[in-house]
Amino acid sequence: MSTDTHKLYASVIVPRPVDGTFTYSVPQHLQQAAGVGRRVVVPFGAKRFVTGVIESLSPVKGPDDFQIKEIAEVLDTAPVVLHPQIKLWRWLADYYMCAVGDVFKAALPSGLLPESESVVVCTDDPDPDLLAALPPRRAQIYDTVRAKGKLSLKELSKLIGVQNVEGSVSELVDTGLLAMYETMNGRYRRVKVQKVKPAFAEADRPSLAAAFAAAGRSHGQQEALTRIIALTGFNNATVPTRSVARADLLHGSEGKFTWEHVTALKRKGLVEIETVEVSRFSSPEDGAGAFSAPLPTLSQAQSQALQSVHRLFMEKGVTLLRGVTSSGKTEIYIHLIDHVLRQGKQALMLVPEIALTTQLTRRLQRVFGSKVIIYHSRFSDSERVDIWRGMVQHPGPCVVIGARSSVFLPFTNLGLVIVDEEHEASYKQHDPAPRYNGRDAAIVLASLHGAKTLLGSATPSIETYYKATEGGKYGLVELTERFGNVTMPEIELVNIDTERSRRGMDGAFANRTVAAGRKLLNEGRQLIFFHNRRGFSPRARCRLCQFIPKCDHCDVALTYHKRTNSLECHYCGASYPVPRVCPNCKEPAIEIVGYGTERVEEEIDALFPEAKILRMDLDTTRNKDAYADIIDTFSAGKANILVGTQMVTKGLDFSDVGMVGVLNADNIINYPDFRSHERAFNMLEQVAGRAGRRADTPGRVMIQTHTPDHPVLHYVRNHDYNGFYESELDERRRYFYPPFTRVINIYVKHRDSKVVQDAADRLASRLRTVLGRRVNGPIEPPVARVASMYIRQIMLKIETEASMKQVKDILRGVYSEIVSAPDAPKAIVHYDVDPV
Ligand code: ADP
Ligand code: ZN
Repeated sequence: MSTDTHKLYASVIVPRPVDGTFTYSVPQHLQQAAGVGRRVVVPFGAKRFVTGVIESLSPVKGPDDFQIKEIAEVLDTAPVVLHPQIKLWRWLADYYMCAVGDVFKAALPSGLLPESESVVVCTDDPDPDLLAALPPRRAQIYDTVRAKGKLSLKELSKLIGVQNVEGSVSELVDTGLLAMYETMNGRYRRVKVQKVKPAFAEADRPSLAAAFAAAGRSHGQQEALTRIIALTGFNNATVPTRSVARADLLHGSEGKFTWEHVTALKRKGLVEIETVEVSRFSSPEDGAGAFSAPLPTLSQAQSQALQSVHRLFMEKGVTLLRGVTSSGKTEIYIHLIDHVLRQGKQALMLVPEIALTTQLTRRLQRVFGSKVIIYHSRFSDSERVDIWRGMVQHPGPCVVIGARSSVFLPFTNLGLVIVDEEHEASYKQHDPAPRYNGRDAAIVLASLHGAKTLLGSATPSIETYYKATEGGKYGLVELTERFGNVTMPEIELVNIDTERSRRGMDGAFANRTVAAGRKLLNEGRQLIFFHNRRGFSPRARCRLCQFIPKCDHCDVALTYHKRTNSLECHYCGASYPVPRVCPNCKEPAIEIVGYGTERVEEEIDALFPEAKILRMDLDTTRNKDAYADIIDTFSAGKANILVGTQMVTKGLDFSDVGMVGVLNADNIINYPDFRSHERAFNMLEQVAGRAGRRADTPGRVMIQTHTPDHPVLHYVRNHDYNGFYESELDERRRYFYPPFTRVINIYVKHRDSKVVQDAADRLASRLRTVLGRRVNGPIEPPVARVASMYIRQIMLKIETEASMKQVKDILRGVYSEIVSAPDAPKAIVHYDVDPV
């Protein structure tokens, strides 16, 4: 027996909110299989197993590594995580001040991260006396397990309808009647399809004739056989025989045969049917990779812009393309993507909103065919696993269109990153950690690959425009005209108060808005109504005492949902019935107030009875294809009016929209934080940009507001981005906000409101001793309790020139000092770096 075994240690990143890696030893039999970037199953905590990924391997263990456990299993035969990805994770964890395990968990589709599950089985030869003596609940558990053979704890508790069975089960385990073990249960399932191919050996005339004779007089079988032979290329000697998928075969049947005819052919031995696993990811080898449509011919302004981008890419890593709405930014993106694909590289195009992927995907697929890959959270987990594996296995040129999480995909050869609508706040993840900005992560990703980044927007964020002008850090290219001589839409401000005083309002609509809309509808144009939900959602209220029902766990008013006739908390997801009597004054006087998109839709229905209306908001787009359906229907002119929330404002390109109506601009403008004006300007300019994308008539925009004199509205009306930028920059300079400082919000949470205040006070005053006036607060945020946790917020404003590393070291130092103090209140602290 050899005692001289070779030692190997692996640093493993685990999907838990802990920083750093854990060291595991690699047992002898797994040393061949272990490798950097491969997933492993490791014991974690008391009895759990989790899936981690090996970051590095070493023959020596670290000095602090005692009590080292062994890796239980290696899941992959090749890396599923590549080197630049881990570097990106490390950067994100450091910059956004969270655990690398948090990033890891967010990065991989959960289908690649199976966790262990407790499974219960009956033991052999149970003691009959023990069995007979079991109390009813235990006996029920025992019988259920025996009937099913084996059950996970989750399945068991579902079957017997009891929430927590773990206690009873472990007592049964102690008596020796049950046994429990941990098992890994991957949630990822491959798709299986049935495929058909001819089963006779030769494709010559006699064999075919014999086959058709054997198919007999059944018309269906004759047809099916003909199709199978044609679709598999069997009758063409030069083409190797393929099989044809059941769905494709039946799709071409034109009703002349069914699957029964095919199975009949199988019984006669004429065809084979096999069940195979397929990937949802079509590899370029599948033949559909050829470029299908020619590239759009650029206008002169556009091709100049394209040349400038190419030129700036030689000097700078990042370039901003500021192009007014409908100037053809997307066409320029397409040319740039084409360029890198032809170099055999990959491109990533980030979009802020899933709704946008639909239209863009169509536009890109027309040119790039199956090289287009779409990736976002509406995909099922298995679909995302397929895409991930597909990219690892076929690392060829492709263009990924996706939401922010696509920065985590396993790119091997990235040449270009495009961030469309770079100013969008939705690029920032709020909860849970990592609280990262997809745009900034994408810039880092690009630089890790030596790739270039193009940021695109009609209304760049103040920070980005500053870096592209004064800062000189980014290149800048501007497109100031809409494509095809289309003029910018005319914007009209409608004063809600004036209208109301002269009885010119009907519900949420000014008569002027309605009249303008009706005129355009009569001319066959379409309308969009934008309804901002923020602070404007329908809620229940007592008519007599003004009481508004709030969530039991959060300090927020509940939102009324008509579809379910219930009150829902948009923070923690709790749902409540609408109370029949007011919980406060006990009178039956609860009514629903405020406008949801549903209510707006109803009013539109009444105002424009002939029009066909589509609604696009969170409720109507829960399922994956809903966006596409709504957008397609509207694009095809099958509906006259589109009403919706934020989602309708961004980047959509409909050619026939004559007017956009904004029902209430004020709650967009008056939101209490330093970005509210920027957000309002961007949103209104974007929403206006959906109107009048046709050359013959300019589009109209009606903005209803209580404050028509507001400076932001003045800039919006004149489409004056530069004016807005200058005035906003002045404000930012005066009050020490970005781009002159960086903001870090520190959130302190605890179940007890006194403890949270105390902890936040201590943290802030300790920080003040080091950072002085850069520390603001603590304050109570607008929503000061969520999911039963009280929240306090401390805001740091750090000069842009200061070393962020130093600041973060101070934060970490002060945090551990305060948390490790003997009388320390055990509050939860998290950071939001660069909040938006
Ligand atoms: P942006 O992304 O700047 O809002 P788009 O790329 O969506 O602008 O262009 C607006 C519209 O003009 C689209 O319908 C697009 O197809 C059309 N368009 C822009 N440039 C061209 C071009 N060079 N050739 C043909 N159509 C164009
Ligand atoms: Zn709640």
